[in-house]
Amino acid sequence: MTDELPYPELGSEWASLRFQKEEVLHLDTAACGRTSHAVQARVATYLAHEAEVGGYVAEASMASVFKNGRAGLGALIGFTAEDVAFTESASTAFVQLLASWPLEKGDTVWALRSDWGPSLAALIDRGLRVELLDVDSRGVLDVDALERRLRHSRPALLHMTAALSHRAVLQPITECLVACSSREVPVILDVAQAAGQFAVPEGVAAVYGTGRKFLCGPRGVGYLAVSKVWQPALHPRAPALVVEAWPGEDRLVRRLESREAFIGGRAGLAVALGEFHEMGAGRIRARLDAIGRAGRRVLGNVPGWSACDPVGAPGAIISLEVASDYVDLAVVRAKLLRQKVVCSVAGRERAPHHMTRPLLRFSPHIDVTLDDLEHVASCLKAASQ
Ligand SMILES: *Cc1c(COP(=O)(O)O)cnc(C)c1O
Repeated sequence: MTDELPYPELGSEWASLRFQKEEVLHLDTAACGRTSHAVQARVATYLAHEAEVGGYVAEASMASVFKNGRAGLGALIGFTAEDVAFTESASTAFVQLLASWPLEKGDTVWALRSDWGPSLAALIDRGLRVELLDVDSRGVLDVDALERRLRHSRPALLHMTAALSHRAVLQPITECLVACSSREVPVILDVAQAAGQFAVPEGVAAVYGTGRKFLCGPRGVGYLAVSKVWQPALHPRAPALVVEAWPGEDRLVRRLESREAFIGGRAGLAVALGEFHEMGAGRIRARLDAIGRAGRRVLGNVPGWSACDPVGAPGAIISLEVASDYVDLAVVRAKLLRQKVVCSVAGRERAPHHMTRPLLRFSPHIDVTLDDLEHVASCLKAASQ
């Protein structure tokens, strides 16, 4: 079958930068994307450089690399380079952010019923009162209900998982921002899945995410970004030794950056971001979107399975529901792995207030073709027998 998906040459180029997929058909980007040879080489060279000249000397020579990395990342998530700080993961970024955000224990915050479970837990750990906002059956925020609620109450902040990990859902970010700006409610977005799949609009108070998913950076590098308006309000909980050493007011967000970190990984992420922009973020997003649609159509037709989201849903996440209660998704995943197809089981803990049962999740990147999707469908058929 010919590849009717947009920008097939982009998919081939992306594939040519990586291990060939004859080995493994990887449809697990939402868990962890595949790094390119250049990203791997950058990490390795940096580690060698650390051993040669000393870790802190090596780091000091990287300022312009990291500045480019921050700029490349900021461009995808609606911020400038100065607003971005690196951490180890999306989770550590959110914990850092919450620890420093001007909040008192007992403050009320709003979050979506379909939000990422561990982020909801982090809000509770911080001593906040979490009120859950209504979503529809797919997990999409009910903006009208939000507007009504804002007329008589106002939270200290609103948290929203911009794109869900278990479904093909992009939240109505702009509408939410408009509603919240009328009451000056800061909006914090989890962009762990959104970054790379979707354009993130400007005007958000803060975002956090990870480089290893659709951006295909190395594991162990996350990030956060805080708007210039909110940076002066941050109270970093860093040790005094570190705070003393920090430069002027213009880089307040960088006080939230982990000082001891996987510096080589940050260099690798900068390379991944360079590749992403060179290929064209818009073209990558368009191809991911088309692959997601094709995947929901092809895999949703496998007997005994159905796509959770409409074929036309946004982005590259393809979640399947199994018809029978007696099928163990972990067993299906293991069988697929033996057929060299990598995917995930999305358990309820990802969105405990929204998911009612686990789902089988496929999340291709732009190298996947229609032929590959047909092949995965036949593997799934075999794995379900
Ligand atoms: C993966 C993910 C996270 C957590 O990212 P880590 O880097 O593993 O901490 C948070 N939110 C969403 C929506 C995710 O998909």
